[in-house]
Amino acid sequence: MTTGVRIILASRPVGEPKESDLRVEPMPVPVPAPGEMLLRTLWLSLDPYMRGRMSDAPSYAAPVQIGQVMEGRTVSEVIASNLDGYAPGDIVLSPSGWQTHAISQGKLTRKIDPSIAPISTALGVLGMPGMTAYTGLSEIGQPKAGETVVVSAASGAVGSLVGQIAKIKGARAVGIAGGPAKCRYVVDELGFDACVDHRASDLAEKLKAACPGGVDVYFENVGGAVFEAVFPLLNSFARVPVCGQIATYNATEWPAGELRVSKLTRDILTKRLTFRGFIVSDFAARQADFLRDVSTWLREGRIRYREDIVDGLEKAPRALIGLLRGENFGKLLVRVAAPGA
Ligand code: NDP
Repeated sequence: MTTGVRIILASRPVGEPKESDLRVEPMPVPVPAPGEMLLRTLWLSLDPYMRGRMSDAPSYAAPVQIGQVMEGRTVSEVIASNLDGYAPGDIVLSPSGWQTHAISQGKLTRKIDPSIAPISTALGVLGMPGMTAYTGLSEIGQPKAGETVVVSAASGAVGSLVGQIAKIKGARAVGIAGGPAKCRYVVDELGFDACVDHRASDLAEKLKAACPGGVDVYFENVGGAVFEAVFPLLNSFARVPVCGQIATYNATEWPAGELRVSKLTRDILTKRLTFRGFIVSDFAARQADFLRDVSTWLREGRIRYREDIVDGLEKAPRALIGLLRGENFGKLLVRVAAPGA
């Protein structure tokens, strides 16, 4: 019997996850029944939402149960197929989770064309994070030429694309990122107009200087102190796609802050602000538009992306902990195996 590896949720973290909350264990490689195929994981995507799935607090999606394989999207290779339309060697996007092998009946699975872009991009710029940036910005942010778009976690999978699309739409793009290296990358490589380091002192002052005309769109990925610095700069009729709150995902209590709910709602009224939370699946109908536009921009060299690659499935727990600390630089991926190996 061939043996694979899987990673299960061993315990629900309190605060920052510990490596022991996730357990690496051997598994028998399953055999596909009629109507099924066997997939071998090549790439596993690590994403901030995974912290939410480790918790059983009420949310928009069900938690992973203790003892279950951690949820996650993968790029996988078909090894054996009893399913019409899929043959060994096909590369697919699949919700296989944190394991080297998985059985699939083709649900939530789609083939990837390796001639369009490297297959790993199906988990990043041409995948869920890219779609999040594209839809959140176009449906809610709606930037116009000459406006100022601010995005937090600006060097990451979502934020990097938000700013680059804002530039394509003729807006000014200002990033917020952690540390000088990420800020340099955001300006020099991605072409943002400015980037402010949220780890440096006087974030609010520096952000104000980077946005002399105020902020028309704030693409919110972080929350906490970063949101506090952006909020006073919002112009009348500003739009705020509320995409993520990563600063609070490990929190055991709400961070202290200056904003009081009544002041917040009064400012929303007097400045006629639009705040809208969204989950990328809300905009599933835009999938074809997203793939068409972003793959065109990639081909034309108008969009750049960066991947942060960790080798070996057993490194995934530590890498997820690092993601929640801001240690990743670009789309975080685990290379599980090479195709055809
Ligand atoms: P990134 O690749 O941007 O990685 C996460 C980054 O978040 C880190 O590198 C770090 O960047 C930043 N970060 C982590 N902790 C903090 C903190 N305490 N304060 C400030 N920044 C922090 O991840 P993604 O692009 O995949 O995701 C970005 C956001 O988008 C997340 O909030 C995620 O939950 C959300 N999201 C929402 C979706 C939706 O459907 N609504 C779908 C996909 C993502 P830095 O060092 O620059 O601070």
